[in-house]
Amino acid sequence: MDLYEYQAKEMFADHGVATQVGVVVTSPKAARDAAEQIGGTVVVKAQVKTGGRGKAGGVKLASDPADAEAKAEGILGLDIKGHIVNKVLVVPASDIAEEYYVSYLVDRANRSFLAMASVEGGVDIEEVAATNPEALAKVAIDPLTGVDRAKAEEIVAQANFPAEIADDVAAMLVDLWDVFVGEDATLVEVNPLVQTPTGEVLALDGKVTLDGNADFRHPAHAELADEQAEDPLELRAAAKGLNYVKLSGEVGIIGNGAGLVMSTLDVVAYAGEEFGGVKPANFLDIGGGASAEVMADGLEIILGDPEVKAVFVNVFGGITACDAVAAGIIQAFAILADRGETPDKPLVVRLDGNNADVGRKILVEAEHDLIEMVETMDDAARRVAELAAQGA
Ligand code: GDP
Ligand code: MN
Repeated sequence: MDLYEYQAKEMFADHGVATQVGVVVTSPKAARDAAEQIGGTVVVKAQVKTGGRGKAGGVKLASDPADAEAKAEGILGLDIKGHIVNKVLVVPASDIAEEYYVSYLVDRANRSFLAMASVEGGVDIEEVAATNPEALAKVAIDPLTGVDRAKAEEIVAQANFPAEIADDVAAMLVDLWDVFVGEDATLVEVNPLVQTPTGEVLALDGKVTLDGNADFRHPAHAELADEQAEDPLELRAAAKGLNYVKLSGEVGIIGNGAGLVMSTLDVVAYAGEEFGGVKPANFLDIGGGASAEVMADGLEIILGDPEVKAVFVNVFGGITACDAVAAGIIQAFAILADRGETPDKPLVVRLDGNNADVGRKILVEAEHDLIEMVETMDDAARRVAELAAQGA
């Protein structure tokens, strides 16, 4: 889960990282009140889970409360890379002498952690990495020892931070490591980390991604989830315990086993090219013991997606044999009817593996109008792409 800047900064503050937490508001009037309370020049900052807010006009200085109200009015409702601004952060403005960059992330390729730091901060760090790679220091971190003072000093030295702030930056790096490990984050990024004209070091922006697999260790993290910003179908699926990820396409996908579903997405995307670029609409793995109930829940979510024009049920029978899955599909329609939902989108079903013959027979005998069976995965993908293109 990605955090908003204000959440990241509150977390920073909890771990001793120097930053301004400010006040989050949802209306221009409240921004005015916040600016009044803070006093002096403030910055009004769009709270959206994407970068580049400054460039998009989502970060503005305001010299007084009336100005803060006007700036908030302009920023609230903005569309920044598809994210609508519902909240702004009002923080005391800092004077900036220099902007720097630091981050910690998971380095999958090296099965380790990585610190990145640069004195060329404030700008797009990807651009620095591409055009001036020597300016971006990369320091591997041993997961067992982490970032102690000595490691922090190594990062500071490699990135060439100016001597007069070296100590403060090293101290901040140790505290940011405490955020990274203590909160089970997979990314902690500060861009910019600034030096003020008086030599103070501050985290002016903050980006934190938390590892959802560690949620059980952090009951408090549940409060950071923001239902408004999540996809409504994903929320409904999560409430039903389904392994569902919304994508933007027209072909609903249900399969058993993550690997099978992943390859189904590839095969459908490939087949869809022939039909005007039809794409998979979701990832949904109903797992090994695909019961009728789970099948019904899965279908309900997928059919609830207005973008979906046709559904591909791709099942390889294993411990749960194909006859049970086939019976599950038929029952799922009955369950949906009971819930007052009438499916009206075509279903292409491919059954293979344990008891495939019996499973197919069950579906043939059911003579369901919406269900069509196709023997191979490739042919089924072509057929469902064709149906989705016709329905679109
Ligand atoms: P981002 O564009 O989404 O990364 O948002 P940032 O929080 O990084 O802000 C973008 C830029 O706005 C920063 O790089 C600064 O140049 C500027 N900025 C942000 N806060 C302040 C502030 O308190 N004072 C001044 N003078 N500039 C600021
Ligand atoms: Mn930034």
